[in-house]
Amino acid sequence: MNSPVYLDNAATTPLDERVFDAMLPYLRGARGNPSSLHGAGADAREAIEAARGHVAAMVGASPEEIILTSGGTEADNLALFGLARSAPPDKCHAVVSKVEHAAVREAAKRLEADGFEITWLGVDEYGMVDAREFSASLRDDTAFAAVMWANNEVGTIQPTMELAGICAERSIPFHSDAVQAAGRVGMDVGESLVSTLALSAHKVYGPTGAGALYVREGVEVSPILFGGGQENGLRSGTENVAAIVGFGEAARLAREEMAERAAHEGELRDLIIAGATEVPGVRLNGHPERRLSNNVHLTVDGVEAESLVLMLDALGYAVGKGSACSSSGHKASPVLEAMGQSEAEAFSALRVSTGKENTLEEVEGFLGAFAGCIERLRELSPIQAS
Ligand code: PLP
Repeated sequence: MNSPVYLDNAATTPLDERVFDAMLPYLRGARGNPSSLHGAGADAREAIEAARGHVAAMVGASPEEIILTSGGTEADNLALFGLARSAPPDKCHAVVSKVEHAAVREAAKRLEADGFEITWLGVDEYGMVDAREFSASLRDDTAFAAVMWANNEVGTIQPTMELAGICAERSIPFHSDAVQAAGRVGMDVGESLVSTLALSAHKVYGPTGAGALYVREGVEVSPILFGGGQENGLRSGTENVAAIVGFGEAARLAREEMAERAAHEGELRDLIIAGATEVPGVRLNGHPERRLSNNVHLTVDGVEAESLVLMLDALGYAVGKGSACSSSGHKASPVLEAMGQSEAEAFSALRVSTGKENTLEEVEGFLGAFAGCIERLRELSPIQAS
């Protein structure tokens, strides 16, 4: 059963009805394998190529630079392992920020376990990477660097253009995880010199299980999946046509409606920030200005986030815990730690993320419920509050 008011859009967004309608024919009747020679195969191929064009347009890429994947996680893995494996043997060092999503962080840890040297780049109290420190961490044997476009927990937007420019000057491939930023932040790979960019459909009102890796023309990436050689040999496996069509439509709509969506969710975000931080012992995390239009990340002193999430859920409000490690593990994520927060603070963190379908009434209702739940939880657990 879903909470009637959904304020967890950073975790996943609801499927847009228009996206669903675009996918339906490919779920229902259309059966062709896009690699088949017959008409049904050609229809499926045509649908995939149209979708690829929309995904490319969302980030200012050309369609040939888009490798369709099963989602953001696979795109990040393909970038990290693909860049590492295609690097010359004397380049076995990488720079990776400490605030990356697990899809990048865990892939980098795997490279580290396999003998790669990783410089884990720190951030300031707002979760921002320092461009000078970044530059100083690059070496002659650096195979690639990875810093996400915007953080999924605290919403901080990194100086991606600057970081990518620094890498481009030194001919070091630069990967950016843009899963949260795409469709919210204007993004043009013509201007920002990123080498690879990870994207995911279900953060932009598309289906889960579809994503893409942008690979700039001329950048070498080795495959991590082997088989039929689809996607230019970079991603073998029969394409998920319906999901790809959904991603294409979601990307087309995201591009068309970005300004309107960002203004709407940003207005609701600001109302939540203003209202929530009026409650004593509640403060905002992440950068005050350079933050995603849908992200509110709060520390609620004296309250365990899990209890707050469950209590709000019981009242009909779906929000996220602010410290995501794994889907079930009770462990603080490294993001808040990298920002200098204690584990106790991390367990009191809540993420509220707005979306295009939220309303002012929902936000007002949420703020009332939020204040009430905090009061009740602090009453129930006065020791924690002291
Ligand atoms: N990167 C970031 C920043 C994310 O927020 C997520 C999803 O939460 C991912 C990668 C993984 O994407 P997917 O769920 O499509 O595998």
